[in-house]
Amino acid sequence: MRPFPVAPAGTALRPFVTPEAEGMDIHEYQAKERFRAAGIPVPSGRVATTPEEAEEIAADLGGPVVVKAQVHSGGRGKAGGVKLAGDAAEARRHAEAILGMQIRGLTVEKVLVTSAEDIETEAYVGVLVDRSAQAPTFMVSPQGGVDIEEVARTQPDAIRRLSVDPAFGLLPHQAYWLANFLYDDPSLIKQASRIITRLHDSFVSSGASMAEINPLITTPSGEVKAIDAKMSIDDNELFRRPEVAQMRDTSSEPPSETRAREAGLSYVKLDGTVGCCVNGAGLAMATMDLVKHYGGEPANFLDIGGSSNPDKVVAALEIITSDPNVKVILFNIFGGITRCDDVARGIVEATRRIQIEPPIVIRLTGTNEELALDILEQTGFSAYTSMDAVVAKAVELAEEAA
Ligand code: GDP
Ligand code: MN
Repeated sequence: MRPFPVAPAGTALRPFVTPEAEGMDIHEYQAKERFRAAGIPVPSGRVATTPEEAEEIAADLGGPVVVKAQVHSGGRGKAGGVKLAGDAAEARRHAEAILGMQIRGLTVEKVLVTSAEDIETEAYVGVLVDRSAQAPTFMVSPQGGVDIEEVARTQPDAIRRLSVDPAFGLLPHQAYWLANFLYDDPSLIKQASRIITRLHDSFVSSGASMAEINPLITTPSGEVKAIDAKMSIDDNELFRRPEVAQMRDTSSEPPSETRAREAGLSYVKLDGTVGCCVNGAGLAMATMDLVKHYGGEPANFLDIGGSSNPDKVVAALEIITSDPNVKVILFNIFGGITRCDDVARGIVEATRRIQIEPPIVIRLTGTNEELALDILEQTGFSAYTSMDAVVAKAVELAEEAA
C-alpha cells in the first residue's frame, strides 16, 4: 500500500493561483445547494435577477440579509459585490447597485439574497486535488475571510494540510485533527469535524477539483456555519453527472472558451502574440515551448484533436482570431491518423469562409504530406515540414507586426 504523506508546505498552492483553469466553476448559490444537501449548515437564501425579486426574498427571509453578486470570482466583498441590508427595502437598493456591476470583467446577472449572520470568528476550509500529492488535499486555517494565498505567503504556519487517501476517504480522526487546528472549544471542534467530513463527501460526490468554505464562521451563540461557498468541477467528471453539468453558466466564462468547448477543442487563452493551432496536446505543448525558445510568446494552447474536418479548423481559426493580441497564426500538424491533406483542405476552406487578418504559417508532416503541401502552395500559403523553421518564421512575423 502506498503511504499518503501530508503534503509538504507549499505543494498545494498552484491550483489556488489558477482555479479557473482547473475545471468548471459553479456559483456560490449552486455550491451552497450542494453543501446543504450534504448536511453542511448554510444560511437560507434564494437567488434573484431583479431588485424586486431581491426585495421579495429579503421580506420572506425577514431580518437583516446579505446581497451577494453571483460571479465566478473571489474577492467580491472588496469589489463591492457583497452588501449587508437591514431590511427588504435596503436589499432592493443593494440589488439595484450590484446587478449589472462589473467584477473582474464579469457582469453580475444574479444576486444571492441570504440571511445575515452575526460573526464571531472567520476560518478557512478548502479541499482540492493536489497533483503533487496525487490526492485530495485539505487546507485549513483559523485565519479565514481573507485571501488564503496571502496567508500561505505571509504565515505558512497558519495553515494545516492533510492529503486524503482516496482508497479510505477522510477518516474521523483526520477530520478531528483538521478541526482541532481551527478551534479550542470542544463543541466547535465537533461541529467543524462534521462540516469537514461533509465537505469531503460533497467534494467527492460532485466530482469536484476544488471545494472551499471561506469564511467558515462561528456565531456568538456557538454555531459553526458556511457563509461562503466555492466549487470547481473536474471537466472529466461531468459526463456522468448531468445534474452537475447543467449548472454550467456560459454567461460567466470567456466566449472563446465556450466556443472551443462546443466545437470539441481544448483551448486555453494566454497572453502572447503567436496563435497556435496544433493536433495533439503533447505537440501543442512542445510548440509553445519552441515559440518561447525563439523569443516569442504563445497566445494560446489549442489542440484540434485527431479530426481534421473543416468545421473544426474554422472554429479554431475563429477562436484564435477573436483574440486581438494575435499577430500570426501558426499551424503545426503531425499527420498520423490525421491526414495532412485533410487538414490542408480544412485550412483552405476555413480561409474561404472567414476573413483572417494575421498571416498564417503552416507546418505539416506525416501522412499524405506531399499532397498537403501541393494544396497549400497552390493556394499561396507558405508551408514547411520543419518545426524549427516554421516556429522561427512565426516569431519573426509576430515581431514585425508588433
Ligand atoms: P467574497 O468576498 O467573494 O469571498 O465573499 P464572502 O461571502 O466571503 O463575503 C465577504 C465578507 O463579507 C466576509 O468575509 C464577511 O466578512 C462579510 N459577510 C458575508 N456574509 C456576511 C454575513 O452574513 N454577516 C456578516 N456580518 N458579514 C458577512
Ligand atoms: Mn469568501
